[in-house]
Amino acid sequence: MSARVAIAGGGPAGLMMGRLLAADGHDVKVFEAGSEIGGLCRSRVVDGYTFDLAGGHIMFTRNQRVSDFWTELFADDPAVETERCTRILHRKDHFVSYPFENALGELPLEHNLECTEASLQSYLRRRAGDPEPDNFHDWIRWKMGAGIAEHFMDPYNRKIWKSDLREMGCSWIAGRVPDAPLEDVLTASLGRTTDGYTHQSHFRYPRTGGFAAIHERIARPIVARIETNHPVQNIERAPDGGWLVDGERFDHVISTVPLHVLPRLMPAMDAGAAAAASALQWRGVAGYLFGIEAEFVRPFSWVYLPHADQGPTNRITYLSNYSPENAPSGKGSIMAEVTYNPATPPGIDDAGRMEVAKGLEQAGLLDASRLEVTDAHLNPVSYILYDLDFESKRNTVLAWTDAQEGLHCIGRFGRYEYHNSDQVLARCFELHDKLAPVLARGGGPLADPADG
Ligand SMILES: Cc1cc2nc3c(=O)[nH]c(=O)nc-3n(C[C@H](O)[C@H](O)[C@H](O)COP(=O)(O)OP(=O)(O)OC[C@H]3O[C@@H](n4cnc5c(N)ncnc54)[C@H](O)[C@@H]3O)c2cc1C
Repeated sequence: MSARVAIAGGGPAGLMMGRLLAADGHDVKVFEAGSEIGGLCRSRVVDGYTFDLAGGHIMFTRNQRVSDFWTELFADDPAVETERCTRILHRKDHFVSYPFENALGELPLEHNLECTEASLQSYLRRRAGDPEPDNFHDWIRWKMGAGIAEHFMDPYNRKIWKSDLREMGCSWIAGRVPDAPLEDVLTASLGRTTDGYTHQSHFRYPRTGGFAAIHERIARPIVARIETNHPVQNIERAPDGGWLVDGERFDHVISTVPLHVLPRLMPAMDAGAAAAASALQWRGVAGYLFGIEAEFVRPFSWVYLPHADQGPTNRITYLSNYSPENAPSGKGSIMAEVTYNPATPPGIDDAGRMEVAKGLEQAGLLDASRLEVTDAHLNPVSYILYDLDFESKRNTVLAWTDAQEGLHCIGRFGRYEYHNSDQVLARCFELHDKLAPVLARGGGPLADPADG
């Protein structure tokens, strides 16, 4: 039996679901709002420089199924493997290893002492029963101490989140913020940098085409079933119990559309769920490409820029170190990320690019008067903002969407999960495992509508 399935959104999640269901013989149609597929994983070639539009992306996963899938996807042109080498720019020309708390001995002595002493004090307070705070600002001090807060965590996180850290919760921290044991912090303080984040010590990156090569390969078997320039505007129940997407009938709908947009598309949404969805918050990322002379390329994968005097950029990636194909021979490239509140996007015209380049020049990373090429792109929906009531809002929305038979929300913003593309692909495999037997029976509703 073949089912008709509408997929709203042609990013990695939508394309992967399309590929998996089409391979089962179902009639899938992917609606993509933009003129191109790929969502946050798009790349662009500008004068021979390949540029990932939403900042530096790497292929890294702990999921064996996804890792094997990538290997198979690139069987004819294996992705480049790189040893991760990341740094924090503490002061001009002073790079320290990442994570910060595993490298305290690389700091100037007075900063090392401030961080170590405060880290020890916070440890003792926790041991004495100091309860875990519920906001990110206090959590940083509770977990790492005031020294690490002042010298790295506060300035960096203010820069990236564009939000008062007291108004952010902590539910997202596990697995996202390094969690060094005190022993490692003290060892690092004495001068032996300890290992943090070892799980990401190697990563892959497509040899040609930038990160976009992944979703372009995923999409190959379903290219004819993708409709670009079609923002889905209406999703409603069909009289026969199926679904209408912009008036066209389908048996099932897979939505990767950001949850905060759904109330506008689904007028029948429960009022409480719609209010919760509309109150979710997010941040954008502006990606800036700078083609540079090879002499400015440092031997790093990426570098965090926590301080205000380093300009608006929070992180740069040396994209030309990921694959030699990312820049013309003898040249290099820097990709700078500037996060923003969607209400106040930064400039991406020549003046905006130059402002970012000047910040990087001030940080000692390039010469703004000697740029080979520049480009920039705004990605308005890039990071989930974990405000204090995030969990309850998300749970309220998903309780409603997951109860709708034949509607399946998936993806980074489709479920508001802080997921990289590998985790999104892993979720697609899981959803497909659940949907496949149901659709094979003729596309009827799932036995358990809370399919996730
Ligand atoms: C700065 C940054 C760095 C990252 N680094 C990495 C990394 O190193 N490795 C990694 O694997 N991942 C990384 N990610 C995460 C990765 O980008 C996402 O996990 C992935 O893009 C999510 O895929 P998605 O399909 O869920 O969403 P998206 O990529 O956001 O795609 C959603 C698609 O839906 C479309 N759409 C929206 N509304 C509608 C509508 N109404 N109708 C039709 N279409 C619609 C959009 O146009 C878009 O194409 C990073 C993300 C950011 C922001």
